[in-house]
Formats: sequence, structure tokens, C-alpha cells
Amino acid sequence: MNAFCLPGGKIVVYTGLLPYTKTEAALAAVMGHEMAHAVARHGSQRMLRTSLEHTFLTGANFSMTNMDYQQRQSIMTALGAGAQYGVSLPFGRGQETEADELGLIYMTRAGYDPREAIAFWQRMSQSGSAQPPVYLSTHPSHAQRIHDLEAFIPKAQAEAEQWKQR
Ligand SMILES: [Zn+2]
Repeated sequence: MNAFCLPGGKIVVYTGLLPYTKTEAALAAVMGHEMAHAVARHGSQRMLRTSLEHTFLTGANFSMTNMDYQQRQSIMTALGAGAQYGVSLPFGRGQETEADELGLIYMTRAGYDPREAIAFWQRMSQSGSAQPPVYLSTHPSHAQRIHDLEAFIPKAQAEAEQWKQR
């Protein structure tokens, strides 16, 4: 039950997430969120601080498929792709909020109803997936996230409307 974005912009969505996305629009919310991490270069900001810098920055044609199992596993582990974080990498809370807002704009621009993002996070919060207390977590709690997304919907709709008229 996870999705994440690699430096370079490749996006991974696990099929374990599909029972929670349920609709195309909610999947668009997940994709929008991950696209936002890629566009805002959160991955490379984070990667610069890690020992994996060399691995990623030298590999213009970086592809997991060219790696053996052990290399892949170590990268997955390093990326913190474990299910304990729920959706996405353990980005900082600021980056998560940024990705949520930008992602909401992207999905709305693409013609999807941004309220589907809320519905998705509501389903996630009911999934019973382990969620650390918000003060321990780099991620906002589901409740905080739903609250913030709801507040941002009018802005996303206004922005998407403006964008269409360009
Ligand atoms: Zn994220």
C-alpha cells in the first residue's frame, strides 16, 4: 500500500493502493501528489543529503530494471519505501503539504473532481494502516491532511479554471 516518486521523475504506484483509490479520480490524486514531488524536485533535495547521491546523480539513465535484486532491495530500503509510511516517501511535512496542494491543482486541471482526493484519504484513514502519532511522523496525520486538502479545494479549482483559460 504505497506510492512514491524516484529522483528523475519515475513514479511507482503499488497495486496494494488500488482498493483505496477505487476511482480513476482518486488515482489521479495519488499521481498528482507524486508528480508534484517530482516537479518540485523534493526527491533530489532529499537525495543530496544521502549517501545515495552518487547512485542517482550519475545515472541519467537510471533504471531499477538494470539492477540485480540486492541492489534494488537496498535502494528500496534506503528510500524508506516501507509500508509504515503509508503513501509515499518520508518527505518532510512541508514538502508533503506542498505536494498535496500542487497535486490537487494537477488533478483538477486534468478535469478530475478534487473532492476525490479527500475521499481517498478518508478511505486510507479507515484502512487501519499503522499511522505514527503526528508529532513523531514526518507525515501529516490523515485527519490533518484531509482538513488541509478540504481548505485548499477552492484555490485548486480557481487555479485550474485560470489555467484552462490560458
Ligand atoms: Zn508525498
